[in-house]
Amino acid sequence: MTQTEDYAAAQHEKEVKKYLDHIFSIVKQRNPHEKEFLQAVKMFLHSLTPVFIKNPKYIQHNVLARIVEPERMITFQVPWVDDKGNMQVNRGYRVQFNSAIGPYKGGLRFHPSVSASIIKFLGFEQIFKNSLTGQAIGGGKGGSDFDPKGKSDNEIMRFCQSFMTELAKYIGPDIDIPAGDIGVGKREIGYLFGQYKRMSGQYHAGVLTGKGLSYGGSLGRTEATGYGTIYFVEEMLKDAGLSFKGRTVVVSGSGNVSIYAMEKAIRLGARVVACSDSDGYIYDENGINIETVKKVKEENNDRIHAYLKEHKDAKYFSGCSGIWGIPCDVALPCATQNEIGREEANQLLINGVQAVGEGANMPCTSEAIQVFQTNGVLFGPAKAVNAGGVAASSLEMAQNSSRISWSFEEVDTKLQEIMKNIYNSCVTAAAAYNHPGNLVIGADIAGFTNVADTMIEHGA
Ligand code: GLU
Repeated sequence: MTQTEDYAAAQHEKEVKKYLDHIFSIVKQRNPHEKEFLQAVKMFLHSLTPVFIKNPKYIQHNVLARIVEPERMITFQVPWVDDKGNMQVNRGYRVQFNSAIGPYKGGLRFHPSVSASIIKFLGFEQIFKNSLTGQAIGGGKGGSDFDPKGKSDNEIMRFCQSFMTELAKYIGPDIDIPAGDIGVGKREIGYLFGQYKRMSGQYHAGVLTGKGLSYGGSLGRTEATGYGTIYFVEEMLKDAGLSFKGRTVVVSGSGNVSIYAMEKAIRLGARVVACSDSDGYIYDENGINIETVKKVKEENNDRIHAYLKEHKDAKYFSGCSGIWGIPCDVALPCATQNEIGREEANQLLINGVQAVGEGANMPCTSEAIQVFQTNGVLFGPAKAVNAGGVAASSLEMAQNSSRISWSFEEVDTKLQEIMKNIYNSCVTAAAAYNHPGNLVIGADIAGFTNVADTMIEHGA
């Protein structure tokens, strides 16, 4: 480059950064106090700088200003009667964020921490996650501040029915297809589906995913997010000449994602020594017995400390963040957002962690990611790593449309292919934009360009 070209390039970069800052200032102004949503957008915009430098068309079409604004945000009241006969009221949400490449798709989260900010950060991430899967699904998310903990089966049923009574107006197999997330599993999906069926008077199997096998669910969907996480991290390790065999792994959470990530890691020869719930964590030096965890969580709906009843040598600690002080080679945060901050990341680093894969959505803060990336720790971002769940949801929709059910092996083989493709797209995009090995930038760019190009094709 000549000096003049150098100068022009620097000027251009400055202008791009100014444009990105301008977009972020609008988002901040429109969504004040929405901490998690702003965090997700900020991290994403940071990744996009090289794309905007190379492709002026995205600025010309002002795609970014459209992508950060939900196409639709629905907020509604959810009244329900508890077992004592008292009227309770919760708030329900559905964000239909982006439908460029397909109908809105994304889970429902029932947790007291749910707010507009949480739903919007999840919906925003979902756009790019879904795009990375290569399936025709747009981005959406929903949920409620309802706390399922300690509620009876009947209370859960009444809540789900009331929630769906309102949500049904906005969804459909070709409009918006919800699924599960934290606090929403097979039981809740069953009640939600039953109510939708009653209201619509039609059997639309494809209106929800994560269904039971007797009414249109897919084999392999339960395992998909956890297995997919391991398939992705396995690729990451392989590229660095490593594998799961003989490695010590810590997995936070003990829900659907965590359980099946642990199961697959153990099958690949890893020693998983710890997992957690929102009260505390267990440490089993001999290696976690996955069958006991399944019994405690899936059959008995119990807390994780019940694991100790069958494994006397294991230890229980209350509080969650201490789990990241356990020495491990691979750390898989599969619980919730912002569970690894700078401090936890430094602790993992001191203990020699080699790889981190985000099984949950945004479990690492940007400071934590920086700690990993600047110290040579392999890092797989949530959008890519945990995309296996929604990818399998899309396979469930395909089976519902064709009225054919695939075998577990068929679904699992497709899932493995999808996870490999996602990994390769991240690696390729990162290299193409001069950040080789940076899978955060790779995932954001690969997810974004597909959606943005389609939006340009569709016009204003
Ligand atoms: N809640 C999951 C996610 O965060 C799955 C969504 C779905 O299957 O639609 O991707």
